[in-house]
Amino acid sequence: MHTVTLIPGDGIGPDISEAAVKIIEAAGVGIEWEKVEAGLSAIDKYKDPLPGIVLDSIKKTKVALKGPLTTPVGSGFRSVNVALRKEFDLYVNLRPARSFEGVPSRYQNVDLVIVRENTEEFYAGIEHYIDPAHSAAETIGVVTRSGSERIIRYAYEYARKQGRKKVTTVHKANILKYTGGLFLEISREIGRQYTDIQTEDKIVDNMAMQMVINPYQFDVIVTTNLFGDILSDLASGLVGGLGLVPGANIGYDAAIFEAVHGSAPDIAGKNLANPCAIVLAGAMMLRHLKEGAAADRIENAVAEVIKEGKSVTKDLHPAHHVGTKEMTDAIIKRLKAGC
Ligand code: NAD
Repeated sequence: MHTVTLIPGDGIGPDISEAAVKIIEAAGVGIEWEKVEAGLSAIDKYKDPLPGIVLDSIKKTKVALKGPLTTPVGSGFRSVNVALRKEFDLYVNLRPARSFEGVPSRYQNVDLVIVRENTEEFYAGIEHYIDPAHSAAETIGVVTRSGSERIIRYAYEYARKQGRKKVTTVHKANILKYTGGLFLEISREIGRQYTDIQTEDKIVDNMAMQMVINPYQFDVIVTTNLFGDILSDLASGLVGGLGLVPGANIGYDAAIFEAVHGSAPDIAGKNLANPCAIVLAGAMMLRHLKEGAAADRIENAVAEVIKEGKSVTKDLHPAHHVGTKEMTDAIIKRLKAGC
């Protein structure tokens, strides 16, 4: 029996997290869920988007499954997602984007992994208006040698363990000569130590174009925080959208699993959200909990339901679709049939 913190999240969060919990239960893994609220619902209840009860639960369980949390744009409270990553030093944001048969998308057979640095640079929270009149603002991006070393080494170790062939470091060291330059210098140093892995680096603007033109040339991509955030949504677009791409935030002592996508306020409460991204994040979590067989079964059931195309959400089949709940039921049925 595992104990896992469950943060349902905002917008579509509660519906898709419920789907993930049901599917993990149907896979037969014994999990005691500690359900705690963060984000908008926590503001209503505790007047705090990240109440102590959430931090205490993750400190105890060390593992959380989290629905997306809304962050006000341009003003208001700071991102709870970023706060959680910093609080637990979850320095790795692992975002695998792979194609599923049956998904209408520009490419088939894409299989990329983005390893995003998750605690530094422009997400360090050092920003302010420079004067009371708000005539100018500045954000300071901090990149450290130790922070860069640990994420780049993680990417190479991950590539080696997963039998992947190449690591591409993405940067903007032509313009950001210090932050980008340090990250690039360290990636070249570390790359030289992994002679079994092909190493290359690309400037981020060219990288975005190259990913769109020919994603097959990439394998593991390691980059700084902001570029990793943007390129992982781009990678989601290559494989058929945000509804399919999971993510893991991993540190030395704790890990939080979530979808790459956000709270999707435009479709919240409409039974339209694709549950697959958080379900696949749940499978990543099960692997972390050494429940690899259950993770494989869940991934297979998701892939089969998508391939069949009869019980999928609107993002996957706009003309003939079912709702979140119905797709969840179809995955559970397939999971049980395969047991
Ligand atoms: P979003 O990812 O929520 O939505 C972008 C588009 O993708 C929308 O059209 C949405 O309907 C669609 N979409 C997203 N998930 C989907 C799913 N599962 N099924 C079908 N369609 C889906 O991005 P946004 O609108 O830019 O952000 C909304 C809020 O989410 C913001 O407050 C943002 O800060 C937050 N956010 C949170 C996280 C997180 O919790 N880790 C990540 C990204 C964004």
